[in-house]
Amino acid sequence: MNVDVIVIGGGTAGSVVAGRLAERGDRRVLLIEAGPDYGSPTSGRWPAELLDASTLPTTHDWGYRGPAADGRVIPFERARVLGGCSTHNGCAQSWGWSGDYDRWAVSGLSGWSAADLRPHFAAARERMRVRRYSDEEVQPLQLAFVAACEAEGIPRRADLDDLDGAVGVDVSPVNVVDGVRWNASFGYLDPVRLSGHLEVWGNAVAQRVVIEGGRATGVIVERFGETSIVWCSEVVVCAGAYATPELLVRSGIGSADDVAAVGADHLVELAGVGANLHDHPAVTLEFDASALLVAELDAFRAEHGWLPEEQALAKIASATASGPYDLHVYPWVEPRPDSPTGWSVVMPVGLLTPRSRGRLVMNGTAAPATPDHRYLESSVDRSALADGLEVAARLCLSSELALFLGERTNSPADGESIDQWMRRTHSHYWHPAGTAKMGDPGEGGVCDEDGRVHGVEALRIADASIFPELPRSTPALPVVVAGERIAASIP
Ligand SMILES: Cc1cc2nc3c(=O)[nH]c(=O)nc-3n(C[C@H](O)[C@H](O)[C@H](O)COP(=O)(O)OP(=O)(O)OC[C@H]3O[C@@H](n4cnc5c(N)ncnc54)[C@H](O)[C@@H]3O)c2cc1C
Repeated sequence: MNVDVIVIGGGTAGSVVAGRLAERGDRRVLLIEAGPDYGSPTSGRWPAELLDASTLPTTHDWGYRGPAADGRVIPFERARVLGGCSTHNGCAQSWGWSGDYDRWAVSGLSGWSAADLRPHFAAARERMRVRRYSDEEVQPLQLAFVAACEAEGIPRRADLDDLDGAVGVDVSPVNVVDGVRWNASFGYLDPVRLSGHLEVWGNAVAQRVVIEGGRATGVIVERFGETSIVWCSEVVVCAGAYATPELLVRSGIGSADDVAAVGADHLVELAGVGANLHDHPAVTLEFDASALLVAELDAFRAEHGWLPEEQALAKIASATASGPYDLHVYPWVEPRPDSPTGWSVVMPVGLLTPRSRGRLVMNGTAAPATPDHRYLESSVDRSALADGLEVAARLCLSSELALFLGERTNSPADGESIDQWMRRTHSHYWHPAGTAKMGDPGEGGVCDEDGRVHGVEALRIADASIFPELPRSTPALPVVVAGERIAASIP
């Protein structure tokens, strides 16, 4: 089989790239997705939990596991389904701070300044159907959190979708349409499915990119238990921050040691493949939900017909913040059988500008790679999170929130320092990135500003792995923007 462009990974960015290229009408695009393709939102084939935006489903997970700061093995959820993580994520959409994107542009990545990206953000917002909840749609814990922030001097601002935003709190802009999680395949693939220019292969796993004479010429795919080669003129890898670097290494691109570890021929030396792995680490205060809160949640559910767990977001600044803010606080409620009321309140603090960097560890020819994030290695990360915890703890004592909270259920042990407690209990915000970053190969760069992989013709990358550093935002919309930006650069 022969097509013009193969997009590997029909996730958040892959849906954007495949959809945008197909809608030009001048080439044949094949999208290869390892998970199922359930079609349009009205196909009747979607599992209910993937459409239900009120909670985070884990039914279509790749099963990545790796070490936390104290060596605990923790899960790193990644969706294996068309739409990728946009099909199982929290639907909170924020843009980040202009200064982060402008820094990329100043470092030489042309076309990535905040001014350059604004039109892409506008397009992404429209396609992903991002809108703001009215206060009437917001459940009691989330409204109490907003009020507690205001009482603490954190102003209410509607600027989570503004690149010039500041410290503040608001209900999140969301890509939720009538309770449905509006994933990237709905926004970008459905409009071109019948165009004759897009073919989507679900349940098809790309094994490696075929590189001949320094040029990507095809992809080896496993589908229905059979392995075949699809030939093409160009490949765009959109498999996400863990799978993209692994696929590059299995294709012979990376450090000699990594490529040898997976038993491939070493074709291109690029030490940055799989390096610079980072994420937004999170530390969390946890409480039993009070009986009053549970009664109010029941009333909300009865009136509205659903109970969104997560709806509001605060941006705050630690003492070491390098910009207007560097922390998110984003509470939610969740069922917990061992709580006296059956519910708990979770108050995470996520660090948006982590200094710690890890890498993806290759595990041989057959086993998947292990993400080794090296969370909290930097003392600056730990002190910023400790600052955030202090603010979160004050919010929880406020009259607005205290009535909704029972016992705290995860305090430090006797004699345990905050540092030790954070290492023992931290989690993450599900935002891995940076493992095939844009930039100069001498500085760990894997691709240029248009996603072109150094040293290989006709091979590009477009997903969270190309970010040199995470924007200080929830990254789904910036990833959609990356898809828009890379697709626009393809002639
Ligand atoms: C539980 C959770 C909650 C989150 N909540 C939010 C939130 O509220 N707001 C927000 O902004 N961000 C959130 N995020 C993060 C955000 O969703 C991700 O950063 C973003 O979607 C990543 O997009 P991507 O295109 O890089 O990768 P993905 O969307 O993961 O896409 C990668 C795709 O490639 C496919 N693939 C991988 N390997 C292969 C292969 N070999 N062959 C074929 N296909 C392959 C995968 O199956 C997947 O579909 C959340 C993430 C998670 C996991």
